[in-house]
Amino acid sequence: MEVTLMDEQLKDTQAERAAMEQLQAQLKSIFKNLPYEVPLILFTQPGKNDPFITAARFLIRAVREVTSKVTLREYDLNHPMAKKMNVTRAPTLLFDPDRYRIRWLGAPIGEEAKTFVEAVLMAGNRSSGLSQESLKVLRKITSPRAIKVFVSPSCPYCPQQAVNALKAAVEKPDSLSLELIDIQANPDLADQYSAQSVPQTYANEVLVAQGAQTEELFMLSLDKMEQQTVFIPESDAQEVEADLVIIGGGPAGLTAGIYGARSGLRSVVIERGVLGGQVATTPVVENYPGLTQVGGKTLVDLMATHALQYANIFQGEEVMDIRPGDPITVLTSRRRFLAKAVLLATGASYSHLGAPGESRLSGHGVSYCSTCDGPLFKGRKVIIVGGGNSAVTEALHLHNIGVRVTMVHRRDTLRAQEHLTKNLSVNKIPVLFDTEVKEIRGKDRVEEVLLYNLQTKETKTMKVDGVFIAIGYTPAVELAKKLGIELTPEGYIKRDSRHRTNIPGIYSAGDVEGGYKQIVTATGQGAEAALAIFEDLVNPYWKSKKAAA
Ligand SMILES: Cc1cc2nc3c(=O)[nH]c(=O)nc-3n(C[C@H](O)[C@H](O)[C@H](O)COP(=O)(O)OP(=O)(O)OC[C@H]3O[C@@H](n4cnc5c(N)ncnc54)[C@H](O)[C@@H]3O)c2cc1C
Repeated sequence: MEVTLMDEQLKDTQAERAAMEQLQAQLKSIFKNLPYEVPLILFTQPGKNDPFITAARFLIRAVREVTSKVTLREYDLNHPMAKKMNVTRAPTLLFDPDRYRIRWLGAPIGEEAKTFVEAVLMAGNRSSGLSQESLKVLRKITSPRAIKVFVSPSCPYCPQQAVNALKAAVEKPDSLSLELIDIQANPDLADQYSAQSVPQTYANEVLVAQGAQTEELFMLSLDKMEQQTVFIPESDAQEVEADLVIIGGGPAGLTAGIYGARSGLRSVVIERGVLGGQVATTPVVENYPGLTQVGGKTLVDLMATHALQYANIFQGEEVMDIRPGDPITVLTSRRRFLAKAVLLATGASYSHLGAPGESRLSGHGVSYCSTCDGPLFKGRKVIIVGGGNSAVTEALHLHNIGVRVTMVHRRDTLRAQEHLTKNLSVNKIPVLFDTEVKEIRGKDRVEEVLLYNLQTKETKTMKVDGVFIAIGYTPAVELAKKLGIELTPEGYIKRDSRHRTNIPGIYSAGDVEGGYKQIVTATGQGAEAALAIFEDLVNPYWKSKKAAA
């Protein structure tokens, strides 16, 4: 449709001439001070995409009439130059091919004319105009990326993404190449890449973005090779002063960041890995109030974007040491923080069986949390592996919600409290003692388990839909231990009702404290702790406690 329109426009009417004059006046002022020449090479072939070829020539002609800096050579697709340049489609437009690896498959018409103008400006200035933040990200990319951005002349969002890609390709011509692919001129490529909805961006044949992004998120997606939705600016500061330093960017830490900053505390969150903690690895969450069903990654993005509005987030740096005092010094792998209070929201991790198939089928029938995933197995058959209080409680929970559950335990007796084990027999939940899970099998989901009896030395398979693993948690308490923070007998951080530890100015929240270990409880504890910290700082609690002692 756009093409027919362009054909119409090309008729040499009076209106057309007026439009051309207006366009040229605009282009003239845009290209007035272009310092460098921009050689363009256009490959064409009669009978192949003629309307697009005509449109490309039209736009280039308009530009060349206002600036001598843009030169054009045109070759037929059969010319040896096409082979030399590895060009197989018409029209294909190359921008300053001795310097850049940027090519346009199609014609820069409709909305894409803006992108063309930007491309000429960038090549003519030999400058990408990238922000400092984007440059920092781009510098981290050390291996080559072949970028493809699928665009359409009728897509108003496409120029934003195309310009992002152009900036990257102009900034790093040695390692970044770019193809801007017009899906109207190249419907076969659009089919091949399922790129009917544009803009769509690939790097080294991997889909890295759907839709238009900010410049920084584009560069980050290019670096990480997957779509990024949250951009956290990097800081070069060697020392950061804050009221509250939160260690851990999981649900507890991010919530504490929001509550701390909203109470007027200068709050920072430090995360060594990816934001979201355990939630970042959770495929689907179905028990977070207000969101019936949400992907773990989506929930993390929502929380992180929210937290970023209030707190400074330092991602990718590990807290190595905390030195109590006034201020408290927090040392990370990159800098030091001086804080009035520190919140340990370092989380916990589930212990793994280490059986073949476990990690591959995690989230596909293998689960570590009956509260989280139990309802998905209603009426289905599962095993629960473990023999302690948690395993028995989880087995009872699954049984109560209608899951057909069998316990599998490697010893000959359960380690759980008596009232719990009694409840197991009252509810007739079978227990396979002296049994180890040797393998979890299934193509895309759990289908069966291979069980080994340690007494009889027999191996048998059992058809199941799910495997719940409840063999313990490992709380992240290395820093707490180093500091001399008291722990509970189970190894979690011991704290009072206001999340204070035994070390002045140091608090805790979330899974690292033990308890129910849910997203909603972690966020609740993060909020409670931040509010308690605010009150302790304004009162001030620790100073009066010291004075009283
Ligand atoms: C597979 C899976 C599925 C789950 N499903 C659900 C569910 O459906 N519903 C639900 O409610 N709960 C679910 N949970 C539990 C839930 O994710 C946790 O209870 C929750 O994430 C705990 O939050 P947290 O902030 O306390 O700790 P975490 O999420 O563990 O976050 C702690 C963060 O601290 C960081 N950290 C630790 N030490 C340092 C350090 N020294 N320096 C810097 N950073 C550090 C870690 O990298 C981590 O990102 C699931 C958990 C898993 C593993």
